Amino acid sequence: MSVLNVNILPCLSDNYTYIIQDKSSDKVIAVDPPVVEPITNFLNKLNLKLDYILNTHHHADHVDGNLELKKIFNCKIIGFEQDSYRIPGIDIQLKNHEIWKFGDEAVRIEHAPGHTAGHVFYHFQKNKLAFVGDIVFPMGCGRIFEGSTKEMYESVVKIKNLSNDTTIYSGHEYTISNSKFCLKLDKNNSELFKRSKSVLSLRKNNKPTIPTTVQLEKDTNIFFRCEVQEIKNNINMKNASSEEVFAKLRGLKDNF
Ligand code: ZN
Ligand code: FE
Repeated sequence: MSVLNVNILPCLSDNYTYIIQDKSSDKVIAVDPPVVEPITNFLNKLNLKLDYILNTHHHADHVDGNLELKKIFNCKIIGFEQDSYRIPGIDIQLKNHEIWKFGDEAVRIEHAPGHTAGHVFYHFQKNKLAFVGDIVFPMGCGRIFEGSTKEMYESVVKIKNLSNDTTIYSGHEYTISNSKFCLKLDKNNSELFKRSKSVLSLRKNNKPTIPTTVQLEKDTNIFFRCEVQEIKNNINMKNASSEEVFAKLRGLKDNF
């Protein structure tokens, strides 16, 4: 199995673009580039070219670098077939569940609507990496713009159902604010307490709090913990289903 290097590039005020490099072939992917400069600077320094762009969804802060990067590198742009009309410069349209080969890695595209109707995530199955855009963040989940709460819930569960040792790369640095919300409603969670402290010190040193893992989110992300009785009690939803708890939490977070 070829080893993939993932580099984290902060862009705009709180976005992350990921540069994935296959060490055996020097092929390079950029995930969700909103701008050009940080990416060209990084690639030039390492004397690398850009081969592919992967887009998780059509929002400007994830695709606005597409066309200019394509002009510079002649790279191929990859996205979800259903959203192709609003992914600038798309070359390769993937269907839900389709596998795209990157060297010997099998990248599975999964439709996960809610934040937008055509949102997808990319699961690098051998390396156990998931690039999830604005579906899930450390200790949080994306806002619902184009879908139903049910869709968003099911999309979060799709990520929760990946193996516990899957590494998750999210689209934004929202972690401190997310942790405050979790702490308010899950106050006896010692893992959450520990993690909240550690992300504070990471941010103080201007370091990303990303990546995370499925296990870490199960332990600390309230949106992954909708079945926990204590959380249900804390929001006066003792007998509610996980999906109902999720809906309530998403609403509370919107006004937090
Ligand atoms: Zn977005
Ligand atoms: Fe975004």
